[in-house]
Amino acid sequence: MGCEAKPEAAGTLKQGLKKHDKCLKCSGQAKVLLPYGPQKFCEKHFVELIEKRFRKTVRRYSLIKRNEKLVVAVSGGKDSLTALYLTNKFFRNSNKIVALLIDEGIKGYRDKALKLAVKNCRAWEIPYKLVKFKDEFGFTMSTIYKKMKKSVINLGSPCAFCGTLRRTVMNRYAKRLHADKLITGHNLDDELQSILMNACDNDLARFLRCGPISGVKSFEQFVQRVKPLCEIPENEIMLYADFVGIEHYSGYCCPFRSEAKRNAYRRIINSLEEQYPGTKFSLWNFYMQIKPILLKSKGFAELTLNECSRCSEPTASKLCDTCRKLALLRKL
Ligand code: AMP
Ligand code: ZN
Ligand code: ZN
Repeated sequence: MGCEAKPEAAGTLKQGLKKHDKCLKCSGQAKVLLPYGPQKFCEKHFVELIEKRFRKTVRRYSLIKRNEKLVVAVSGGKDSLTALYLTNKFFRNSNKIVALLIDEGIKGYRDKALKLAVKNCRAWEIPYKLVKFKDEFGFTMSTIYKKMKKSVINLGSPCAFCGTLRRTVMNRYAKRLHADKLITGHNLDDELQSILMNACDNDLARFLRCGPISGVKSFEQFVQRVKPLCEIPENEIMLYADFVGIEHYSGYCCPFRSEAKRNAYRRIINSLEEQYPGTKFSLWNFYMQIKPILLKSKGFAELTLNECSRCSEPTASKLCDTCRKLALLRKL
């Protein structure tokens, strides 16, 4: 996800390998070293391992069921394209799949990423729907950013603004496309950063929203978001995408991205993993054990949602976050 995870991060999975090292599963030359095993794999068996993990996550949390219509949110980056590739590989015979591409209107960044997303959708024969912020809200993110910079009202960070609008588009189009599930490309690192960040912010409500399934099950207007890559570390996805030849956007970061805080958590988690291999999986398993216990205890009942009085998207208050933000923006 973030830009500190440069392609060389995948290179760390090759460090320490010797020329004569063999794969754990065959007599082929090892191309990957997973320090937490430690285990070595050839290209073919590493690909198999990742595919097995993807399927196991889907099964373990019942993320995808037969015949469900799946909308995959694809940004053009390695994670969401890998999510699309794997969903298509394993579910194209049992499920209808559509890719949802959102153009926030960030020139030189999202347009380039989405070009690759479209190219892959065509190559894999997956129908796609491209939605633009400009058409949905009347503003591009570039305009919003300029307005925010000039504003005396604090509208929060541009990323939070963009994320809120994007989630509205995702849910709106997932509904319009009659999706049963909305698939995103969140990986293990994304989830752990959120878990730790919310814990350190003492934000229990957000902390409990992490995990393989997000969203309120009981509200009809809300299409459940599922994350089938949430148990695969980012550097392994990068290497997988490289091995199977998924062409993805790996250029510049979003020019508006102010992810200093998330990157601090990324660094801490990566440094812990380096010193104590296996930490990422341990922290994840710990979270997945503690979450149901906390949810069962009093006071953490599912959020009651209703329809936004303006746009009818789900919200816990009268107006949804997107409508509130847009109203402020229009005043500027
Ligand atoms: P991010 O918050 O940028 O890490 O994105 C998390 C996930 O949201 C991605 O893996 C995608 O599934 C989805 N996503 C982010 N940006 C877009 C976009 N512009 N279009 C479609 N999906 C997106
Ligand atoms: Zn092998
Ligand atoms: Zn609204």
